[in-house]
Amino acid sequence: MSPSVAIIGAGFGGLCMAIQLERAGIRSYTVFEKAGDLGGTWRDNSYPGAGCDIPSHLYSYSFEKYASWTRRYPEQPEILGYLHHCADKYNVRGKIRFRTEVRRAVFDGSKWQVSTAPAEEDGGERTEAYDVVVMGVGQLNRPRLPDIPGMPEFEGVSFHSARWNHDHDLTGRRVAVIGNGSSAAQFIPRIAERVEHLHVFQRTPNWVIPKPDATFGPLARLAFHFVPGLQRAYREWIYRYAEGTLYPALAQGWSVGLLKQRAQRHLRDQVPDPALRAKLTPDYPPGCKRVVIDSTFYPALTRPNVSLDTDKIVRITTKGVETTEGLREVDTIVYATGFRSTEFLVPMEVVGREGRSLEEQWKGGAEAYLGISVPGFPNLFMLYGPNTNLGHNSIVFMIECQVNHIMSCLPRLAADGPIEVRPEVMAAWSARLDAAMARMVWGGGCQSWYKTADGRVTNNWPGPTTLYRRLTASPPHPAYRPVSTA
Ligand code: NAP
Repeated sequence: MSPSVAIIGAGFGGLCMAIQLERAGIRSYTVFEKAGDLGGTWRDNSYPGAGCDIPSHLYSYSFEKYASWTRRYPEQPEILGYLHHCADKYNVRGKIRFRTEVRRAVFDGSKWQVSTAPAEEDGGERTEAYDVVVMGVGQLNRPRLPDIPGMPEFEGVSFHSARWNHDHDLTGRRVAVIGNGSSAAQFIPRIAERVEHLHVFQRTPNWVIPKPDATFGPLARLAFHFVPGLQRAYREWIYRYAEGTLYPALAQGWSVGLLKQRAQRHLRDQVPDPALRAKLTPDYPPGCKRVVIDSTFYPALTRPNVSLDTDKIVRITTKGVETTEGLREVDTIVYATGFRSTEFLVPMEVVGREGRSLEEQWKGGAEAYLGISVPGFPNLFMLYGPNTNLGHNSIVFMIECQVNHIMSCLPRLAADGPIEVRPEVMAAWSARLDAAMARMVWGGGCQSWYKTADGRVTNNWPGPTTLYRRLTASPPHPAYRPVSTA
């Protein structure tokens, strides 16, 4: 009999898992989604200009060739449309329970007791048993508001970039944007055109490289659809470029200088004012924080109605943002301040074997074998879990590797009962990760969402993705043991 599977989240990860179960003829699964629609981050991030800086022929499932992309780097509506297309084509939409939040998952010795409630409501809890739980909630799903004194006192309108207030028209307004990461870099050029004045508050400059966008006209789309192998070859080319050129820069290899030169040239080409250029020049190695890939951000900062504030923010007042240099009066504040990225699975309560809490186990920072499995938590698997984020390639590639790994665990757990990763395998994995991490650029010189407050990198994968594919593809049996023998 097929195991019953609870999948939590209907974004790229959860949908991929559901689709592969469908393709394998396993229909004993449910996808729990706390929102009213599927799409995960591509549903939540609807700010103007939201899009992906990885080309969509690669930022898409390898098994679902899609000839409809209208450009190399499509925007959020197109990516969300792709996910809807996949959910319908592979017949998984009917298996999604929308507006249902998973509050708790508790392993009772043989099954997971999964407790859900209608999203954003107290009470109404319901508990169901599943053999397997697959977490597909992602790393960037909970917006992080900063802790700046006075924020509640602001009398204007404020919101986080991942919860864009589309009812609030910014035309002619004085707007503050706090943050200058990939999200801010995408929406600043779009809103700069219509606001009266835009104050961009930058705490740390980012390295920025151009985004070589291109449109795909009807002929190109027809070619992608009909020319055998064209789409696959294009996808492969993008993949190899990212792996062969960008990855070595993050591993402090041969292309470090190339990446830096490219970013410096981009800054020189786009920002003529030396004072502004100086403010925008980072003092840490490129790649330490996520490199921003955008060709419209710098030109937006050179507009007469845009100013870049680099003074320390002291407080938010009723009227605006006060820095060490004075008050900037605004009527709108957009917090582009990122996500609670190191708090994996929070606020869900996850309790494994012998009452072990995952929160307790992870108090020094989240870690998981292959980013997928944790000792003491049998039949619990993660997608886009700890140490699987990339700064250079498509996370969808990693998700597919993870789903393949989980699929290959299913026959074993169906035969032997619950299985968990062996503690000694996990210990060896942690040591291997630490050694690989020491080579990477993320450790020193900068703060980023890749690491915990005490500097441990819990989010990124420190190797080539080809290695990750190989590791996740190898038979999982030796790494796991049945709980009955634990
Ligand atoms: P982010 O990269 O974490 O940036 C947050 C920004 O807010 C930073 O500039 C940060 O400054 C600033 N900030 C935070 N707290 C602050 C405070 N108290 N005072 C002043 N500034 C503060 O967040 P994000 O831009 O939303 O992007 C997150 C990730 O999402 C990206 O790195 C990327 O992986 C992904 N993303 C991808 C795309 C894409 O095209 N693929 C697009 C958007 C987002 P510091 O740098 O000084 O901390």
